[in-house]
Amino acid sequence: MTTGLAGDLRDALPGVPVVDDPDALSAYARDQVPGLPAGKPAAAVFPAETAEVQEIMRIASRTGTPVVTQGAATGLAGAANAVDGCLILSTRRMDRILEIDAAEGIAVVQPGVVNARLREAAQRDGRFYPPDPGSFEACTIGGNVATGAGGMCCVKYGVTADYVRALEVVLADGSVLRTGRRTVKGVAGYDLVKLFTGSEGTLGVITEVTVALRAAPAPPRTVVAEFGSLAAAGAAISAVLAGGATPSLVEILDRTTLAAIESWQPLGIGSDVAALVLLQSDAADADAQTEAWSGVLEGTEATGVYKADDAAESELLMQARRLAYPALERLGGTLLDDVAVPRGALTTLIEGVERIAAAHGLTIGVFGHAGDGNLHPTIVYDRAEPDGERRAFAAFDDIVSLALDLGGTVTGEHGVGLLKRSWLARELDPVALRVHASIKAALDPAGLLNPSKVFEATAG
Ligand SMILES: Cc1cc2nc3c(=O)[nH]c(=O)nc-3n(C[C@H](O)[C@H](O)[C@H](O)COP(=O)(O)OP(=O)(O)OC[C@H]3O[C@@H](n4cnc5c(N)ncnc54)[C@H](O)[C@@H]3O)c2cc1C
Repeated sequence: MTTGLAGDLRDALPGVPVVDDPDALSAYARDQVPGLPAGKPAAAVFPAETAEVQEIMRIASRTGTPVVTQGAATGLAGAANAVDGCLILSTRRMDRILEIDAAEGIAVVQPGVVNARLREAAQRDGRFYPPDPGSFEACTIGGNVATGAGGMCCVKYGVTADYVRALEVVLADGSVLRTGRRTVKGVAGYDLVKLFTGSEGTLGVITEVTVALRAAPAPPRTVVAEFGSLAAAGAAISAVLAGGATPSLVEILDRTTLAAIESWQPLGIGSDVAALVLLQSDAADADAQTEAWSGVLEGTEATGVYKADDAAESELLMQARRLAYPALERLGGTLLDDVAVPRGALTTLIEGVERIAAAHGLTIGVFGHAGDGNLHPTIVYDRAEPDGERRAFAAFDDIVSLALDLGGTVTGEHGVGLLKRSWLARELDPVALRVHASIKAALDPAGLLNPSKVFEATAG
């Protein structure tokens, strides 16, 4: 018989890996955002089955141990960061695809299944799981559900929340909630599936996910357009969408981001290009669609329009978008923001970010999902400068404030976590905050599930 939390876990769950070596535990302290608080976990546990998660939650409840659930820790809001003395509950061994029913158009998976594995499995059955975060090769479906993740094809297909049909969730006391259904329709009871989607590990541990699948799309075709001003780029996007187009991707990169890419991996983008817009079609008539969009773009103030002739060339044109964040990361410390505004306010947001960069004397690259009004202004600061991080956070706050002023939201897809707790209180009204606090208290009365995340102390 061993003692302490790790001992309790080993005794109750022989065969389930438990880590309590402090050096090994440091690997589980934080997600991908530098500069946010991360505590020291007491242990990490790696269940493979729902019943094991139930036993873990019973032990945590009995011993008053906080539980931080982690998928792949690719999060960008500090939501998976450890708190002192917590138990890290990793879902990485819960990685089985339990069912793909092509006829019903659904898949049932354990939460630790990596997004890319589900996409590949669906594809083998002629089906398509659309939500495609940039981290799809690493992030998990459980993490995607818990953050309400988006991606590049949301402009046509919607976000994770649009695909979750049913969930199995282990609650704080170890009981199992099964909610939602396999059917397309169903309105019995409150929509608890939506409640847990985006709950960032604060309401329960998601142990099984049923998602909807779609018919596989055609190989995508891409059009790229260059512009001498952001306003011209914004107007051109509106012109294409106004014609009723349904692109599967509409991305934008600004001059700062393009310069960072050119200085690292030259793609031949001229320094006079103020904005690059990428549009993709994955429709059966993708060639005809992209041809039509090229025509519309040529009628705008675009200074260059290029259309890919095949899937391989499409992939080449997408390179710049993939290089955006890593290229900016090479310039110094980075703070990646995630705000969304009504589509019509996109140009105002980008121009506002340029003013904020000038006012703070910082480099801020802007890229993101123009079709959704969801941008990722990325603040670059000098790590060696003592005040660098503080100045970056000041600019970050100005950007979030601007997004709210434009009728937008403080987070389009990355979530609140630790990074945006104070901003949640600015976006939600006091009544909405009170309802959030009541739900949290009802489902997690002892406050053990991912404490200190999402809510500032008073609401959590
Ligand atoms: C290069 C890069 C590109 C990215 N691109 C995008 C993008 O395009 N769109 C986007 O939305 N995000 C993006 N992200 C952010 C991140 O990948 C997503 O938020 C993703 O959904 C996190 O999944 P994860 O498995 O890594 O979860 P983690 O980071 O481990 O956890 C995230 C949150 O979910 C909770 N959680 C995880 N699993 C469970 C579970 N089973 N039950 C309950 N709670 C759980 C955690 O407690 C935490 O609160 C990107 C990140 C990187 C590094």
